Amino acid sequence: MELFIFWIIFGCMTGFFASMRGRNWFGWGIFGFCLPIVAIPMVFILSKKYENLDDMIKCKSCAEWIKAEANKCKFCRSDV
Ligand SMILES: [Zn+2]
Repeated sequence: MELFIFWIIFGCMTGFFASMRGRNWFGWGIFGFCLPIVAIPMVFILSKKYENLDDMIKCKSCAEWIKAEANKCKFCRSDV
């Protein structure tokens, strides 16, 4: 039963990551259900164009994600 839940989570995760990277979430979701071990790494390998999440930090004042280079938060205008 736990395996089945993990299976669903993997499928949803694959679809979610694919849609975050501007891809077809439904197609990738199905792919994630069928071959989760292959699909998840492929989502990361195939689409590098939104791969800049590492450059993001969380604003201490409003908890929004902003660029690490930023001096001021674009949401609440406080100094970072
Ligand atoms: Zn802020």
